[in-house]
Amino acid sequence: CGIVGYIGHQDTKEVLLNGLEKLEYRGYDSAGISVLNDHGVHVFKVKGRIAALREEVNEDVSSTMGIGHTRWATHGAPSVENAHPHQSTSGRFTLVHNGVIENYMDLRNEFLKDVELKSETDTEVIVQLIEKFVEQTNDVAEAFRKTVGMLHGSYAIALIDENNEDQIFVAKNKSPLLVGLGEEGFNVVSSDSLAMLQVTNQFVELMDQEVVIVERNQVEIQKLDGTVVEREPFVAEVDA
Ligand code: GLU
Repeated sequence: CGIVGYIGHQDTKEVLLNGLEKLEYRGYDSAGISVLNDHGVHVFKVKGRIAALREEVNEDVSSTMGIGHTRWATHGAPSVENAHPHQSTSGRFTLVHNGVIENYMDLRNEFLKDVELKSETDTEVIVQLIEKFVEQTNDVAEAFRKTVGMLHGSYAIALIDENNEDQIFVAKNKSPLLVGLGEEGFNVVSSDSLAMLQVTNQFVELMDQEVVIVERNQVEIQKLDGTVVEREPFVAEVDA
């Protein structure tokens, strides 16, 4: 199972599908991608292989940012409904997650009694919480940090907001996640440097309970209280 994300100027679906293929060795039962463009967010998902996802993805949808996922089901059977990305009720927020949210039932009972969930996953609770908190604060970064601060368990997550083509929000705890730095106007997100070695060999390691706002020309790491953290990238060894 794994996560990829891309924000730049190239056709995103190809970068995401190629990255997901590199993560296939980790094992998975379903896969999906979401890309955002001027017409909104486009979600494609399948139960089965990346090859099947390639068939499912509409060739005509071009985009310069998006996220992708391979799923190893823990909560809810392998199915298209339970495959990631998951969307909030309004469709504004779209999210991928690896790991297990141990307190998802408690969070659901406390904050989401009025929300009809579309999947059986622990993951959907995260994206619904973000939507709920954005309704209250109107600040996506703040709502994202607040939500992440409530999660117990393991997670690598990436979020896109339909109203914002310029940022991907990511966070991690006890699940691997790296940010890859592109040379010219792009950056990437990946569970594993292997998935993105075709596009960059410079990566920034993330610590548990950090949040990162990834833009085309900038990467900002924050703690959950919003304080900015500086960290130098490392160069990943490329296997010939
Ligand atoms: N717990 C989530 C699910 O069952 C994510 C599983 C994964 O790591 O792929 O959908």
